[in-house]
Amino acid sequence: MKKIPYGRQNITDEDIQVVVEVLKSDWLTQGPDIKKFEDSFAEYIGAKYAVAVSNGTAALHLSALALNIKPGDKVITTPITFVASANCVKYCGGEVVFADIDPATYLLDINKVRALLENAPKGTYKGIIPVDFAGRANDLEEFRKLADEYGMWILEDACHAPGGYFIDKEGEKQNCGNGKFAELAIFSFHPVKHIAAGEGGMITTNDEELYKELLILRSHGIQQDPDKRVYQHGVWYYEMQELGYNYRLTDFQAALGLSQLKRADDGLKRRKEIAAIYQKAFKESTFIKGQSGVVEGHAYHLYVVEVEDRTGLINFLREQNIFAQVHYIPAHLMPYYRQFGWKDGDMPQSENYYKHCLSLPMYPTLTSEEQKFVIDTIISYYEKNQ
Ligand SMILES: *Cc1c(COP(=O)(O)O)cnc(C)c1O
Repeated sequence: MKKIPYGRQNITDEDIQVVVEVLKSDWLTQGPDIKKFEDSFAEYIGAKYAVAVSNGTAALHLSALALNIKPGDKVITTPITFVASANCVKYCGGEVVFADIDPATYLLDINKVRALLENAPKGTYKGIIPVDFAGRANDLEEFRKLADEYGMWILEDACHAPGGYFIDKEGEKQNCGNGKFAELAIFSFHPVKHIAAGEGGMITTNDEELYKELLILRSHGIQQDPDKRVYQHGVWYYEMQELGYNYRLTDFQAALGLSQLKRADDGLKRRKEIAAIYQKAFKESTFIKGQSGVVEGHAYHLYVVEVEDRTGLINFLREQNIFAQVHYIPAHLMPYYRQFGWKDGDMPQSENYYKHCLSLPMYPTLTSEEQKFVIDTIISYYEKNQ
């Protein structure tokens, strides 16, 4: 068997073609494909506005700035995420407060968040960053209610969940990142995510003011609207009004993202098929302590199982060229976050999850034969060691 990773991109001849066309055009960066990609992505997600940026981490940083995180501001997030979800708070000098996960969903436990809020003076916490971990959508309607009670914003990290959704109280589908419940949502186009642009990110929102602020922050803090300039010198004039960054995406990356976006639904469908096969294969297995399962609206960026003897299994799989992975090492246990007082035992559900979790190969081009080989290899490991 050739190497089977836990996730991988799928680049077609058409993808290559559109990138080549941009390379031959007049625009390499911030050209017409950026706006096309933004508009198509916003439409796909069901949000009003989208801002393309250089990567998901830049999307988080700009969101944190637009939401006005200031030194000392406390923001709540989950430890079971990629560290970037928390780091954006630190970029602005804020304080990250972790709250534990719900072991049934692996998502930020709203009851843990509520407990934090109830035990502090109102105004202590400024915002919440829920993560649609593995592709499973948070119930943002619930988080919105809670956030409104305490005057907080919500920044949804939807990197794992383009095309994911939850069902609201009215029985309506609410897409991850659609801007109905969260002020801002962010996505990544890293090759391992659903839509690959090499590097790339997107911020979606329904808030026009935040949208305009993000456009300015993306490009050095330079005012885009000539009518809003303080001074007018002439046709050459540009005006920097605040401290921004260069977080632009290139036009050839946008073209690649746009081309990939056209196949997003096909990819999602295939991910759901793969999930259903894993779910069925491990349903009766006693070595499985938990799994992502078949959940409506799950976008299946990852298919997670919780197993006994995870280290033994992961090493055995590697010998067979299967590169399952662990997502994630709880962020609060990183040496960087330990310096702020976080320690083992602070997040018991997250830490228990981390002991057992394993992300199995999950990507649209994973073949049925490869998936069967993965399943058979896992089962054979436990049969052998019984
Ligand atoms: C990938 C990822 C990011 C960061 O995105 P990059 O494009 O790699 O910067 C942030 N949060 C989560 C949950 C991610 O999976």
